[in-house]
Amino acid sequence: MRFEIVTIFPEFFTSFFENGILRRALAEGLLEVGVHDLRAFTHDRHRTVDDRPFGGGEGMVLKPQPLAEAMAALGIAPKQGSGVRDQGTGNREQGRTRVILLSAQGKTFTQAMAREFSREERVVLICGRYEGVDERINQIYCDTELSIGDYVLSGGELAAAVVVDATMRLLPGVLGNEASSEFESFGVADAEITTDEEGVPRSQHGAGGLLDYPHYTRPAEFGGVRVPETLLNGDHKEIRKWRREQQLRKTLTNRPDLLAGAALSKEDKKLLDAIRGDLA
Ligand code: SAM
Repeated sequence: MRFEIVTIFPEFFTSFFENGILRRALAEGLLEVGVHDLRAFTHDRHRTVDDRPFGGGEGMVLKPQPLAEAMAALGIAPKQGSGVRDQGTGNREQGRTRVILLSAQGKTFTQAMAREFSREERVVLICGRYEGVDERINQIYCDTELSIGDYVLSGGELAAAVVVDATMRLLPGVLGNEASSEFESFGVADAEITTDEEGVPRSQHGAGGLLDYPHYTRPAEFGGVRVPETLLNGDHKEIRKWRREQQLRKTLTNRPDLLAGAALSKEDKKLLDAIRGDLA
């Protein structure tokens, strides 16, 4: 898949793409990225991308014209029904390109959305700045208005980086272990798991919408705290059970809202009741 990022700070992404899994995914051609400087689509001496808001008030707003030209350069036509005629910019290729506006007013980004984006051929990310982007760009070009959380950032670049990172990990071949994205926090429900790790003591099955269990490595004792004995005894069945209980415990403590949508077995429900009793 390919990401196109439209930003007034293209250099923001330089080091982001030079490290870790992302660098490898790009080098191996599992992912392509284009970063586009919004100022390249301006026509005045000062390369102006912003203007004062209609109706008055604080701050500046990203002008629609450079963004519309950036969309045209990427071959993205106005949405059908937006009331704007395609001026020969090409077809929108419904279902193949998704245009996303990063915005604090958007729907909240989740792992499920990252999974959905990873199935697209091309995702365009528009990074706002100042007070935001002229709303007509959202209306005319964007399929999704997306927020990465309930706080306000000074620009969409960090949000775009979050979306790229979370999505590219889910592309086939990107993670060394194909199973790992199914077994971590917010993983798919057991029924959807396609890979299995025979004999490897992971959580009971998939994370099934729960948070991950805690992880430990050597030494067995650190800072006076010993690794839970169950993890040291090599009994894979006991380890699975312990990990599942820990997933339930962590989810109940930190994100009880996730339990409603989690895939819970009868055994899980019994364990949850016991944990609730413990915590009371
Ligand atoms: N006036 C806007 C509001 O109150 O919703 C905030 C604008 S913010 C200072 C500038 C830009 O940062 C936005 O246009 C958007 O692209 C980005 N941004 C801020 N918070 C974000 C969030 N939680 N998720 C995604 N993008 C965000």
